[in-house]
Amino acid sequence: MKTNLRVLTLAVGLCASLALPAFAADKHQHKATPKGGRLLDKTSPHAEFVVEKDHSVTINFYSEEMKPIAATTQNVTVIADAKSGKATLQFEKKGDSLVSKTKLPEGDGYNVVVQFRQTAGAKPLNLRFKLDMHTCRECKRAEYACICDH
Ligand SMILES: [Zn+2]
Repeated sequence: MKTNLRVLTLAVGLCASLALPAFAADKHQHKATPKGGRLLDKTSPHAEFVVEKDHSVTINFYSEEMKPIAATTQNVTVIADAKSGKATLQFEKKGDSLVSKTKLPEGDGYNVVVQFRQTAGAKPLNLRFKLDMHTCRECKRAEYACICDH
């Protein structure tokens, strides 16, 4: 009986140590978001930045298992640094998502900053990236939402 218990403990311990590195490695990967947008780093619940065909922006939210969930207190502002000048997009809640009231400037290749606040008064998380709408040949997603390691 004692031996069985020890074997069991060893097995559990092994499983735990094997599972841990896999979990840690997973955290560095870019997760594929359901709507083809960019997963915003360090957001919890996960926030997805999606550029729609008409150049408006939608922010969707997902649980840890990437199941859609409703926006709650989040507050988002997007600043686009386009060649034609800076544009600031404000968002409003529409259904479960946040939708921009105005559109991104024409074209792409410019930098955007997503100011993400978990609640209206919170310190913003500033996420800066280049808006590249070209399709990645490997993952077939837009480059701004690419999940490949390049
Ligand atoms: Zn890719």
